[in-house]
Amino acid sequence: NGGHKNGGANRSPRASPKPKNGGTNGGANGGHNGASTAYAFDDEPMQFGGTVGALFIMLFSHALLYYLYLSLELHGGALFVPTELSRYAAFLAEHAVPTASEVGVYAAFIALQTFLALVLPGLVLPGLPVRSLGGKRLDYNCNGWAAWVVTQLIVASLHFSGTFSVEWAADHYGALLTTMVCTGDAVALAVYAAGFLPRVPGEGHAGAFRRERMTGSHVYDFFMGASLNPRFGGPRAGGLDIKMWAEVRVSWITLFLLTLSAATKAASERGGEVGASFWIMLMAHWLYTNACVKGEECIITTWDIAHEKWGWMLCFWNLAGVPILYTWNCMYLLKHPAAAVPGGAAAAAVLFVLYLCAYFVWDTANSQKNYFRLVLNGTYKPRPWYIFPQLPWKVVQKPAYIRTKAGTPLLVDGWWKNARKIHYTMDICFALCWGLVCGTTHFLPYFYFCFFTGFITHRASRDHERCAAKYGDDWRKYTQMVPYVLIPGVW
Ligand code: NDP
Repeated sequence: NGGHKNGGANRSPRASPKPKNGGTNGGANGGHNGASTAYAFDDEPMQFGGTVGALFIMLFSHALLYYLYLSLELHGGALFVPTELSRYAAFLAEHAVPTASEVGVYAAFIALQTFLALVLPGLVLPGLPVRSLGGKRLDYNCNGWAAWVVTQLIVASLHFSGTFSVEWAADHYGALLTTMVCTGDAVALAVYAAGFLPRVPGEGHAGAFRRERMTGSHVYDFFMGASLNPRFGGPRAGGLDIKMWAEVRVSWITLFLLTLSAATKAASERGGEVGASFWIMLMAHWLYTNACVKGEECIITTWDIAHEKWGWMLCFWNLAGVPILYTWNCMYLLKHPAAAVPGGAAAAAVLFVLYLCAYFVWDTANSQKNYFRLVLNGTYKPRPWYIFPQLPWKVVQKPAYIRTKAGTPLLVDGWWKNARKIHYTMDICFALCWGLVCGTTHFLPYFYFCFFTGFITHRASRDHERCAAKYGDDWRKYTQMVPYVLIPGVW
C-alpha cells in the first residue's frame, strides 16, 4: 500500500496509470471495472424539498432573473418591492420580448457551438462506468478548448471587421434573457419528453434518453431529470453529449461573451476607459471559462456528469441562470460608471492579486483531485503547453490517499488534506470579489455572493450525504482525517 500517512492513507508509488492498491471489488484500478465502482447511490431520497421544493425553485428562478433585470433597468440596481406590476409588465413587453434578431443570433451561437463540438479534434476519454448501462463507459471528445479559441477568433473578427459589434448583446440584454430562459425550459422539456419515447435497442438516440432513478412525481422528475447522459450519436465520441456540451460550452462561453459585451460598451461610452472593476470581471470570467475548457477532460468524472441527471435544474441554470445571474454585476457596472472597489486603485490592485491567488488554489485543487482520479483510472493524458495556464502543483506526485471498499480512492494530499471543499471556498471568494468591484452602494451586487454561498454549501452537504452512503465507514475515516469542510482549522 505504499507509505502510511495521516492515519492510514495509502501513497501512490508513482504517477502510474495502474496502481496496485485498488478497492476490494473493482480490481486494481479503482473505478475501472464495473458498475459497483461508479456512483452507487441509486435510491437517493428526494432532495430540494421534494415536489413542492422543486416547483418553488423553478418558479423562483424565473422570477429572480426578471426581478434582477427590472432592478437594473427601473430601480438603478437597488432592491425594490415589486408593487408596480402593470409598469413592469409594460416594460418587459417592450424590452424583454425577443424579436427575430435576438432569436436568430442566439440560434446561430447555439448552432456554432454544436458544430464546433461535432467537428473539432479533442482529447477522447472514457467517462466513469455508468451503472444503468451495466458498468459500460461513454466516450467524450473533449474539444472545448478548441471551440473556445475558435469562438474568440470568430467574435474578434466579426467585431473588428465591423460586421457585428460585440456590444450588441448588452444592448439586447432583456430580449436575450427571455430567449435563454425559453431555451432552457424548452430543452429541459424536450429531453424529459424524450425519456418517454419508445425504447430503441442499443444506445443510440432514444436509448441514450433512457429514464432512470424516477420517483413517479412528474414535477420532481422533470426538475431532477429523467436521463443521466442524454446524447446524440451513441456511446462513442463522435456524437453530442448534451449535458457536457451545455455545461462547458453554452453556459460559460455565453457568460464570457456577455461580460465582454458589457465591458466593450462601457469602453465606447467612456472614451475607451473601462476602469479596474471591469478589468477584474473580464479577467475573472475569462479565467473561469478558460478553466472549464482547458480541463474539460476532468469534468467527465465530476458529480454533475457522472451522477446528476439532465433535468430542468441543470438545463435551465446552464442555459439561462449562469449566463444571466453571473453577469448581472457586469451590467450593473455598465449602468454605474462610478462604481468601484472600496478603497480606490490600491484596493483594486490588491483585489486583483488576491483574486489570482484564489484562482491558483481553486484551479490546482480541482485538478489535483481530478488528475489523481484520471491517473488511477489510467486515462490521464497531459495537455500541451499552449492550453494555458498549466499551473505548478496541478498534480500531486505520489499522493497520499485512502483506498475504499467502493473502489474509488479518496485523495488526502495536496490541498485536499486541508479541507474537503477548499475549492468551494475559493469559488465563494470569487463571488465576493464580483460584488466588491461594484462598490457598496447597493446590496444586489452581493446577491450572487449570498446566493452562491447558500447554493454551494447546500451542494457540499448533498455531496457529503451521497458520499457517506457510497463509502460508509471509509467516508467516516476520511472525514476524521480531513475534518474541515470549507475553511481549514475553522469549519
Ligand atoms: P467536487 O469537485 O468536490 O466533487 C465531488 C465528488 O468528488 C464527490 O462526489 C466524490 O465523487 C469525489 N470526491 C470527494 N472527495 C474526494 C477526495 N478526497 N478524493 C477524490 N475524490 C473525491 O465537487 P463539484 O463537482 O461540485 O465541484 C467542482 C468545481 O466546480 C468546484 O470548484 C466548484 O466550486 C465548481 N462549481 C461551480 C459552480 C458554479 O456555478 N460556479 C457550480 C458547481 C460547482 P466520487 O463518488 O467519484 O468519489
